[in-house]
Amino acid sequence: MQIRDFRIHSLAISDPPLRSSFGLHAPLALRTVIELESADGIIGIAETHGGDGPTQALESLRTRVIGQDATRLFVSLSDLQGQSAYRMALSALEVASLDLIGKTVGLPVHALLGGKVRDKVPFSAYAFYKHAWGESKYGEALTPEGLVTQVQQLITDYGFGSIKLKAGVLEPDAEIETIKLLRQTLGPEVPLRIDPNCVWSVETSVRAGKALRDELSDGGYLEDPAQGIAGMAAVRAGLLDQGIQTPLASNMAVTSFATLAEAHQHDACQIVLGDHHYWGGLRAVAELGRVCETLGIGLSMHSNSHLGVSLMAMVHVAAATHHLTYACDTHYPWQKIIAEGRIPITGGNVSVPDLPGLGVTLNYDQLEKLKERYKNSTYRVRDDVAEMRKQVSPNWERRHW
Ligand code: MG
Repeated sequence: MQIRDFRIHSLAISDPPLRSSFGLHAPLALRTVIELESADGIIGIAETHGGDGPTQALESLRTRVIGQDATRLFVSLSDLQGQSAYRMALSALEVASLDLIGKTVGLPVHALLGGKVRDKVPFSAYAFYKHAWGESKYGEALTPEGLVTQVQQLITDYGFGSIKLKAGVLEPDAEIETIKLLRQTLGPEVPLRIDPNCVWSVETSVRAGKALRDELSDGGYLEDPAQGIAGMAAVRAGLLDQGIQTPLASNMAVTSFATLAEAHQHDACQIVLGDHHYWGGLRAVAELGRVCETLGIGLSMHSNSHLGVSLMAMVHVAAATHHLTYACDTHYPWQKIIAEGRIPITGGNVSVPDLPGLGVTLNYDQLEKLKERYKNSTYRVRDDVAEMRKQVSPNWERRHW
C-alpha cells in the first residue's frame, strides 16, 4: 500500500448566514479534501478545515507522505504528533490512510477501528439564529419563535430526536426563552442542548442553568457556557450548590487528553464533544470513548462546516465507539454534500455503511466546480467578525454577558 500520490484540493462551499457569538458565517465556507493514491491505484480520501493554513500544513508533509506505506504512515510521522500546527493535517492523513487501507483489503473503516457496535448513528439538529438572505428553505430566525419554526422544519426534514441551539447571539434571557419555547413545543422526550461558546460569565451561566434546570434535564446539556476549565468548574460548583445536576459539555475547554484530565480533576466537564479533525484522528476519538467510559464522562461529537467525507468519517468512528452517550452534532442540513448525492439522514440517523473504506468516493465534476469557486473567491481564512461587520453592523464586537 505504498503511497505514490498525495493530492490536496482547496474547496469553497456555499454557507448560509448563520450567527454565533463569533459573528456571521460568510457566503462561502472553506474546506480541504485530500487524496492518497497507492501504487495499486486505490485512492483514500479525507476532508479537513480549509484555507491557507490547513493547506500549507498538509503541503509541508508531502515529501514524508510520498513513498510511505499507508499502514506505516503514522509511525513515520510520530515525531509530529505533539505539534498543534500539524494535528489537523495528521488527522486528515489518518482518515485518508484508513480509507485507503479499507478499500485495499475490502473492509469498512469501522472494522479497522474494532468493529461496529451500532448500525445507525444518531445526529442532533443544529439550530442557529440566522439571517435569511441567499437561501429560502430555512428563513430568518432571530427570535425564539423563529428558532422554533426552524427546528420544526429540521425535524420534518430529517427526523432529529435531539436539538442543539447555537447561542451567545441574543441576550441570554432571549436564549433562555428560546429553550423554554422549544421544550413547550417539543415536549420532554426531545433532549435540548445549548452552546453559547463560552461568552457567558460564571454568574450568567449559573443563572441560565437554574432557569433551564428542567429544560436541560432528560438527556440535555449546557455546552461551554463559561470560559476555560476554571470557568466551567465554577459553573458546575454553582449549579451543584443549588442542587442542579445539569451536565456541562465541552469542545472548547476540553480539546485534548491533557485538558480532559485537568477538566476531570476539577469536575469541569461531564460530557466531551470529540472531533476527529483536532483530537488526532479516528483512532484518537475511539480511544477518547474508552477514556470517557472509564472516567464516567459522557461522549458526544462536535461538528464544523463539513462535506460528506467528514460526515462519513464521523459515522464510522461513532459506529465503532461503544460509549457514545449522546447524538452527534452535524452541520449537514446547512451544507451541500459533494459525494454520491447527499448521505440520507432519516429518523435523525445515518445508516452505517459496510462498503470498503469510508464507503464514499469523490464526485470529481463537483470537486472541480468547488475548486474553481475557491480559486475565484477572495476568502482564504474564516473571519466571521469581518463578515458580521460587512453585512450586519459595522462596529460589531464579540459580546460577553
Ligand atoms: Mg461547542
